[in-house]
Amino acid sequence: MKESIQPKYYQATVKCNCGNEFVTGSTKESIRVEVCSKCHPFYTGSQKLLLEAGGQVEKFKKKYNM
Ligand SMILES: [Zn+2]
Repeated sequence: MKESIQPKYYQATVKCNCGNEFVTGSTKESIRVEVCSKCHPFYTGSQKLLLEAGGQVEKFKKKYNM
């Protein structure tokens, strides 16, 4: 984006397919998205992976009395 040209800037309401809504700065008044940070597989998936990895570490520690 060029700083010399400033388009109208809105507080856009972003509506996601999962039902989540959030406000962000945008040149559009409203935005519809299919995935957001709450339902995007990358975020949900990585959080699950982290939890699973954590659980396995706990099991490992118990098994070997660490
Ligand atoms: Zn979503």
